Amino acid sequence: MSVAEKIETEARDFIRDIVADDLASGRHKSVVTRFPPEPNGYLHIGHAKSICLNFGVAQEFGGRCNLRFDDTNPTKEEQEYIDAIEADVRWLGFDWGQHLYHASDYFERLYGWAEELIRAGKAYVDDQTQDQMRIARGTLTEAGQNSPYRDRTVEENLDLFRRMRAGEFPNGARVLRAKIDMGSGNINLRDPVLYRILHATHPRTGDAWTIYPSYDYAHGQSDAIEGITHSICTLEFEDHRPLYDWFIENLPVPSRPRQYEFARLNLSYTVLSKRVLNALVKGGHVSGWDDPRMPTLAGLRRRGVPPEALRDFAKRIGVAKANSLVDVGLLEFSIREVLNKSAQRRMAVLRPLKVVITNYEGPGEELDAVNHPDEPGAGTRRVKFGREIFIERDDFMENPPKKFFRLSPGAEVRLRYAYFITCREVVKDAAGNITELRCSYDPATRGGNAPDGRKVKATIHWVSAADSVGAEVRLYNPLFVKPEPDVANFANDLNPNSLEVIADARIEPALAADNSPAPVQFERLGYFARDKDSAPGKPVFNRTVGLRDSYAKIAG
Ligand code: ATP
Ligand code: MG
Repeated sequence: MSVAEKIETEARDFIRDIVADDLASGRHKSVVTRFPPEPNGYLHIGHAKSICLNFGVAQEFGGRCNLRFDDTNPTKEEQEYIDAIEADVRWLGFDWGQHLYHASDYFERLYGWAEELIRAGKAYVDDQTQDQMRIARGTLTEAGQNSPYRDRTVEENLDLFRRMRAGEFPNGARVLRAKIDMGSGNINLRDPVLYRILHATHPRTGDAWTIYPSYDYAHGQSDAIEGITHSICTLEFEDHRPLYDWFIENLPVPSRPRQYEFARLNLSYTVLSKRVLNALVKGGHVSGWDDPRMPTLAGLRRRGVPPEALRDFAKRIGVAKANSLVDVGLLEFSIREVLNKSAQRRMAVLRPLKVVITNYEGPGEELDAVNHPDEPGAGTRRVKFGREIFIERDDFMENPPKKFFRLSPGAEVRLRYAYFITCREVVKDAAGNITELRCSYDPATRGGNAPDGRKVKATIHWVSAADSVGAEVRLYNPLFVKPEPDVANFANDLNPNSLEVIADARIEPALAADNSPAPVQFERLGYFARDKDSAPGKPVFNRTVGLRDSYAKIAG
């Protein structure tokens, strides 16, 4: 398939339209994008949207996408995050090949260009305090005030800037600013800060620098150095674009990248601010960055979400120019779509109720169970059946309402892959709790059908009491109780019931023996994945997602 044909078959959006036009008009010979994370936290599903867009566009148009760490703030950045980000991008299914870069790779060149701006009279060293600068910056309706240091000579500026670099001054003593326009309607153009003094050890450059460039100063120039053609970022940078362009116009950069903005992902019941995610971890509200309730890629992976589902989700939500809130139910939909196809079926009982089949004689038997209903190639397995089994407590009601077709006194149901059983007796303890059911079975219904043609309205799952294995199962509910949590006071909106631990579920032996992290479907319950906390003989499973939309009822 040619690139042009391939483009036709891919989802289109305004970014892809721009790229296609630029290639068609010859403005660019090939497309180069980049994904530029700041290594100050783990990647989340919002980043996944950006990764799928940047790497996806590069792939679809036969170009390339760089991974560039925007490592300009050593006080917040850590090697742990750098490693996690690389692993997460790979897991999501993308590859930067040889093109791994760091803004810190360019510190020397960025510094040189800053001296050039000074020489051209377009940058100056400002001695005002942070507060003074904030006040002098003005407001949306009020112009800013020129700094008293704005008219320093080139010589004085060069001398001070070099001494800033040499580490002569304490943190915050001075900054280097671009000399643009304190009266500009765009606050980003009111003499933005290019460099601040920061005596901090950098994960890559160590103690070589005591001044660090601002995001605005580093970003576009890094793009230009790498030959980025389309610098795609989120909408909040739209107002920074004139500054992005100002640097590109006023510096002898090797190429002329252009910035395009798209709407960031906002997801209901979810917070995607790294500051809040960090606070959730540090505050012990979750067990770590990879807690399965976290919207991080590490958390989603641990929960059992396959990377295909995230790519599918990114495709479904598309790329738009206006911010919106995506229903987290759509994410669950994508997860179910993928897992329904890929996950093998198993039986597990989360809240066991013992059933004794009083007319069953003998040591037990093995029955054939289908591994995947739509894929004969997935084969079958043998499940053990005997006189005592467990069923789900929810599948029995002593006094059922009219539409309850599962087990109740006198009712007959099908045991999946096994027999029809009829409930004959309910056994209770002294407190009146149901402890056991006594049932009879019809030997003629082996495999699930009655030779006399009689029907049952329900099929329920079960496990053998003697052969099933105990397991811990962790059920996850949304981390927040509100569709749009208050980011400023996120702790107020935390869901106290976001984690439900079932300590004594029973699972079929095939599940206990399988160490694979690949999610399986527990029949009638949902998709579950083995957690890393599993120990030999003590499996732990995470519910990835239920079989039906769980958010519909929360929202309703
Ligand atoms: P912070 O939460 O601290 O503002 P950030 O989310 O911007 O940080 P970065 O590491 O700078 O984190 O993000 C890397 C890239 O991912 C940026 O290009 C950013 O625009 C994009 N990105 C971040 N959050 C989202 C989101 N929710 N949806 C889409 N893209 C996002
Ligand atoms: Mg950012």
